[in-house]
Amino acid sequence: MSKPILEIEHVTVSFDGFKALNDLNFSMSEGELRVIIGPNGAGKTTFLDVITGKVQPTLGIARFKGHNLSKRSEHAIARLGIGRKFQTPRVYLNLTPRENLELSCNRSKNVVSMLFRKPPPAERRTVGGLLETIGLDHKADIPAALLSHGEKQWLEIGMLVAQSPDLLLVDEPVAGLTDEETTKTGELLLSLAESHSIIVIEHDMEFVRQIARQVTVLHEGSVLCEGTMDEVQNDPRVIEVYLGDPNASQHAA
Ligand code: ADP
Ligand code: MG
Repeated sequence: MSKPILEIEHVTVSFDGFKALNDLNFSMSEGELRVIIGPNGAGKTTFLDVITGKVQPTLGIARFKGHNLSKRSEHAIARLGIGRKFQTPRVYLNLTPRENLELSCNRSKNVVSMLFRKPPPAERRTVGGLLETIGLDHKADIPAALLSHGEKQWLEIGMLVAQSPDLLLVDEPVAGLTDEETTKTGELLLSLAESHSIIVIEHDMEFVRQIARQVTVLHEGSVLCEGTMDEVQNDPRVIEVYLGDPNASQHAA
């Protein structure tokens, strides 16, 4: 095993006494693509909130590349190399995909001056490579408002990658996408996994099967089980938890 990039030790998050995470233990290695599943309310989003510093653990420790994340701001944690993609795309709709990516490559710079300069050759190559990776090279120079929902999701994934994070956190990337877009999103994440550590949270079981190597199942704020897709799908505890949640079993079907 290579060294862990992320270690969560005995983390509990209490909201007015309710434990959204309950003595959670989790570890993943550098370079891993990990999928996290679990019924609604299992604590998946809270788990990401702890990693990004949006929520502080009530108890326990989260470590990224050996750094204790407690009491660090969200901004400081992002600078350590953690990037998060939220469920709804956050792209500038009146700018083109190319401009959106140029801005992400230069986050610290002034937005207006950025848009009125000629990007240096190295940056143009980076942006060109990203446009190709996310499959938007043919739509690089039209307003992002004209992209489909799936294309906006890919653009946002590209914007995240432009910031060169070591760990990418992706929350429900295929919600609302067509089947074809879903498959393409899987291919994109698999290609990014060649050079990044990635955590994907997802409900869509067919999609999970497409990309998953190791799967972690969360339930009531703790890890219920971990393994390959086949192992977790045949685990009686997982079957029980999903059958107990009509919404989740519908997704799992
Ligand atoms: P998931 O993403 O797996 O659906 P969440 O992490 O969003 O689950 O939520 C886990 C549980 O914690 C849910 O029961 C939710 O209602 C509760 N919860 C999440 N955030 C808060 C909050 N800020 N205050 C109170 N309860 C919360
Ligand atoms: Mg959630």
